[in-house]
Amino acid sequence: VVMSSTSSLKNSTCKDLTGSKNRIINLDHGDPTVYERFWRQTGDKSTIIIPGWQSMSYFSDVSNICWFLEAEFAKEVVRLHRVVGNAVTEGRHIVVGTGSSQLFLAALYALSPNHASQPINVVCASPYYSSYPSMTDYLKSGLYKWAGDADSYEKDGPYIELVTSPNNPDGHVRKSKVNRSQGLLVHDLAYYWPQYTPISSPSDHDLTLFTVSKSTGHAGMRIGWALVKDKEVAKKMTKFIELNTIGVSKDSQLRAAKILSAVSDSCEQENSKENESFFKFSHKVMANRWKQLREVVHHSELFSLSQFSPAFCNFFNRVLEPQPAFVWLKCEGNVEDCESFLRAHNIITRSGKHFGVSPKYVRISLLDTDENFTQFLDRLSTIQSL
Ligand code: PMP
Repeated sequence: VVMSSTSSLKNSTCKDLTGSKNRIINLDHGDPTVYERFWRQTGDKSTIIIPGWQSMSYFSDVSNICWFLEAEFAKEVVRLHRVVGNAVTEGRHIVVGTGSSQLFLAALYALSPNHASQPINVVCASPYYSSYPSMTDYLKSGLYKWAGDADSYEKDGPYIELVTSPNNPDGHVRKSKVNRSQGLLVHDLAYYWPQYTPISSPSDHDLTLFTVSKSTGHAGMRIGWALVKDKEVAKKMTKFIELNTIGVSKDSQLRAAKILSAVSDSCEQENSKENESFFKFSHKVMANRWKQLREVVHHSELFSLSQFSPAFCNFFNRVLEPQPAFVWLKCEGNVEDCESFLRAHNIITRSGKHFGVSPKYVRISLLDTDENFTQFLDRLSTIQSL
């Protein structure tokens, strides 16, 4: 198979007729195609039609701090958090963003002091989401700058700490790490949904980010939301988005409202096996994948996985084990560069070095298609028997 560098990015659909061993499996990105099967079954329940005359204005509700926020979307955000029990929405301003990525930048802008002589330091405990350092520094802002691992951060003065829980890449539940009071915290809860981790209590922080990308799997819709306690911070985040993209696609917000509503409906109307809720479906898929993966890795001397403690999940009403969206795999023995090792077996992963830790680790997406996941497991088991 001949592939250009761009097509190799999304090569999972590219079939190799010369034998499956040569097919490259790209599990570098967390592209959530695993959920497509659920959404295909929902038909009209998750479909919207937008007539040509609709959504023409820039504005949604000029009386709202976030003047481009569609009321229907805001309503479904509040409803879904109530149904799932993963976030307090009372006393919060909702700011919508083009993915939580835009909201991350809006949060850095909003939390940076106005007239500081130095950029404020931005930290996160390693292993941290590999995009944080690059997103923070790529425009060489005078307002904020990446300052690395929160575990070893000891400088005086204000700082911004990113808390990702459960964490990307390793799936662990986290709390803030810097042991000081001057921190401005951004909680990135992209994975705080029942299919990935037990919902122990509603999150209740100053500034929390969520996204449809990992919750429902609609990464291509580019919709995220922030729950913000402080009015001035919500205003500044809104200003950032105004300066950046003059609002957020109304079409996407309306579609997101429909998708979130279909998820809440599926939870509230669940009464039989045929009528499975979105989270029951996605939890089952993830449980199945983790079970198969653990079996393969268990028989291996080359690889190891982290262990997770079970906890009570208020959503499913029972004790459950975490089942993260990514595998954080460690190469044991004398393999120092796990990414290159797996690349030689035509599996593309992301090295631990992008997450601020050793290249003995790699991050592997568990959200890809059934076909790619099965191929990946097959290949992993053959690597060990070689
Ligand atoms: N935060 C974390 C921890 C993520 O893993 C991702 C997606 N990889 C994002 C934010 C960005 O999500 P979005 O698609 O909403 O921009």
